[in-house]
Amino acid sequence: MEKLNCLTSICLLHQCSICCNPVKIDFRRSINNDLFIDLEEILVPENHIDTIRLKSYQCINFNQNTGLCDDYHNRPVICKNTKCSAFNEDSRENQAEIIKIIKSKKFLRIPAKNIFS
Ligand code: SF4
Ligand code: SF4
Repeated sequence: MEKLNCLTSICLLHQCSICCNPVKIDFRRSINNDLFIDLEEILVPENHIDTIRLKSYQCINFNQNTGLCDDYHNRPVICKNTKCSAFNEDSRENQAEIIKIIKSKKFLRIPAKNIFS
């Protein structure tokens, strides 16, 4: 049961919501849910400045007070598919180390109108 929990709830286990606030999705990908509000902003990872462009969204399921998803177990497929490599680790220490690295990533923030107009 412990193993199952680790495999299905890494985000909750580590109280991590870095993928949700804001949501970051490749700008070419279409969104088909009512949860994500377009923030009209492009995020560019500083370590992939020439190759990656992410659109940012506010998710209405993200709870600013708890820092967690209000409906994690019913989250959309796109959320279930955006697992980080912490999901490939059994050890909590290794998971925490990976999440720490992910959280340390820095992004340039560019208004979408400056890129797509
Ligand atoms: S970085 Fe990993 S653990 Fe954190 S919210 Fe994203 S998928 Fe979940
Ligand atoms: S539905 Fe939940 S898991 Fe998905 S982006 Fe929103 S807060 Fe995060």
